[in-house]
Amino acid sequence: MDVYSSLINIVGKDRVSNSQEELFIYSRDPGAQHPRKVDYVVMPKTVEEVQKVVILANKEKIPITPLGGGFTLSALVVPNKGGIVLDMKGMDKIIEVNEKNRYAVVEAGVSQAALKTYLEQNYPHLQHSTPEAPPTVTVVGNALIQGHGHISPRYGVNSDMINGMEVVLPTGEVCKIGSCSVSPYWFTRGPLPDLSGLFIGWFGTTGVVTKLSIKLYPKPRYREAMAFSTDDIDLITDAIFEVMQLDLLEDFFLITQEKPDWMNHVFFVIIVSGHSKKEIELKINTYKNLFQAFKGGDKVKFVEDLHPALEKRFLDVPPLAALAADFRKGGGFEYTGAILPVDKVPEAWRKGMEIAHKYGMLCSYVHQVLMGNSIMFGFNYSFNRADEEDVKKTRKALEESNRLTFELGGMVWKGEVGAQKLTMERMDPNTAELIKKVKMLLDPNGIMNPGNWD
Ligand SMILES: Cc1cc2nc3c(=O)[nH]c(=O)nc-3n(C[C@H](O)[C@H](O)[C@H](O)COP(=O)(O)OP(=O)(O)OC[C@H]3O[C@@H](n4cnc5c(N)ncnc54)[C@H](O)[C@@H]3O)c2cc1C
Repeated sequence: MDVYSSLINIVGKDRVSNSQEELFIYSRDPGAQHPRKVDYVVMPKTVEEVQKVVILANKEKIPITPLGGGFTLSALVVPNKGGIVLDMKGMDKIIEVNEKNRYAVVEAGVSQAALKTYLEQNYPHLQHSTPEAPPTVTVVGNALIQGHGHISPRYGVNSDMINGMEVVLPTGEVCKIGSCSVSPYWFTRGPLPDLSGLFIGWFGTTGVVTKLSIKLYPKPRYREAMAFSTDDIDLITDAIFEVMQLDLLEDFFLITQEKPDWMNHVFFVIIVSGHSKKEIELKINTYKNLFQAFKGGDKVKFVEDLHPALEKRFLDVPPLAALAADFRKGGGFEYTGAILPVDKVPEAWRKGMEIAHKYGMLCSYVHQVLMGNSIMFGFNYSFNRADEEDVKKTRKALEESNRLTFELGGMVWKGEVGAQKLTMERMDPNTAELIKKVKMLLDPNGIMNPGNWD
């Protein structure tokens, strides 16, 4: 039997396709990377179907690329070597919300919007950490790529919030990771050897996660956004340090862009939350006092007239700060997620500006401060998708920004294949060898999202 017929046997004819019209959308993503060939798209509904597809792929030596929302912008879900795109959106059940133990167990296709809405309707006092990505992206895809959300500066990156998973290994066995391997509760990863690291950050090269438990957090009744601005880039590191030392915020990001002129400053946006208005007031005043006294005063100004529309965008969950980016005609957008030590931000800012200008672009950055130890520094580039020259320039600017990130001692988050290569070139050889051995052990036929972390 040919592969197409075998896939139909597994999931039924409505959930498999090899038609060019349907494969078109899976052969590219919204970023600046090149489109690539896809042979089949399959939409499983059950873990057994995933298992059967994986077993078939091993037999036929066909690559499988797991796909959630497909919005990393770095083409991580566009197959490098053709084969099957395993679109997980059909597995969309919220299996459990355990209120008292504060976690949710979701299937791989559950979107950020679905979990957020479900919690709002049924558990309005609980929330999960929501990335600033389109609402269709998945909870699982985001956690697996070490994403971050609107409460990450308070609680950590979203992969730290994983309590456990169910995974179909590349050889077809179903494996449970974390407390769910020994208990009915999906409430913690330890105390056990922490096997979740075999699947986090691997870009779907070590298995297909079918279920995942994510931590939930208290959702205070009140939230407010405040903004401070400065023109002195060299103050950024100390300002971040002082703000994080106070330890009172929920979200904290920096934003700037060259146009319009009023945006051409460094804005520190701080979101505070509280169970009473009094608590919020106290927090706001504490931050105002901090900046009044900072470096002798007057260096970082409180933005008195934050436009209500902008304030709303910042307070939205997810915050829509990226919407402020300099979107050009043609609608293309990609950013390099530089994870930088906080003290490298001023240098990244200056050199990033040089790169943007070299390629005839305007600078725009959104950075989220991650617990104060590091910052996700987004070198943002918008481009005209219909103009091949513009797309090429963007690719070059992205590559230079990636090189700059490494020069500054940082790392590229959710990097496309080129950025992964730069990472592997710099990696300690024994670490690179260990990655290779783990990969070989789990995926002896090399079927899982090949080309990534090679
Ligand atoms: C405007 C914009 C703003 C953004 N802001 C943020 C932000 O604030 N924070 C943030 O974290 N991200 C952000 N992103 C990046 C990205 O959209 C998100 O991280 C998103 O949550 C990724 O999830 P996804 O479902 O799209 O993953 P996908 O792109 O589908 O998958 C990501 C990777 O995980 C693998 N994968 C997916 N599902 C599985 C599975 N079930 N099993 C095994 N492997 C799997 C894929 O093969 C791929 O390698 C933003 C993107 C855009 C476009």
